[in-house]
Amino acid sequence: KHEINIISGALELRQKTVTDIMTPSEQCFMLDMEAILDFDTMSEIMKQGFTRIPVYEGERDNITALLFVKDLAFVDPDDCTPLKTIIKFYNHQLTWTFADTTLDVMLEEFRKGHSHMAFVQRVNSEGEGDPFYEMIGVVTLEDVIEEIIKAEIVDE
Ligand code: ADP
Repeated sequence: KHEINIISGALELRQKTVTDIMTPSEQCFMLDMEAILDFDTMSEIMKQGFTRIPVYEGERDNITALLFVKDLAFVDPDDCTPLKTIIKFYNHQLTWTFADTTLDVMLEEFRKGHSHMAFVQRVNSEGEGDPFYEMIGVVTLEDVIEEIIKAEIVDE
């Protein structure tokens, strides 16, 4: 039964897109670039328990950086370090993908790329003004693998 699930999951990779499996941006835990790494902020980060945290400037859909929780290893909450300082120091690369990217393509990108998280963007041409790119969610390698093995992976 397990094997059947895995095979059918793998076959569906070409049919499904990142939009089907992403974590929508509203549900994403993010930080404001202007945040200060004080006790409250650092406790919240630890409580949320994510490995990677998108960082935005101004609006939540304006993602400009990525914080890894491991970047905080040497940060003392008493120093009230600006998040910006840490972001500038590590300067992790952002990976973007389009909303209609199929999961087999995304898996290949994750496999050969350096990042296991991508930001999903689409062109928004609904309003009056010019069309613009809009960030609609995040997708990670785990989301794709989960799709292959179907059963939810219970996170440690
Ligand atoms: P982690 O290592 O942080 O647990 P994973 O890559 O294992 O992250 O992904 C686990 C799930 O959490 C996935 O569904 C992914 O989309 C989601 N996820 C990852 N980072 C965040 C975040 N900062 N906010 C909300 N959801 C996230």
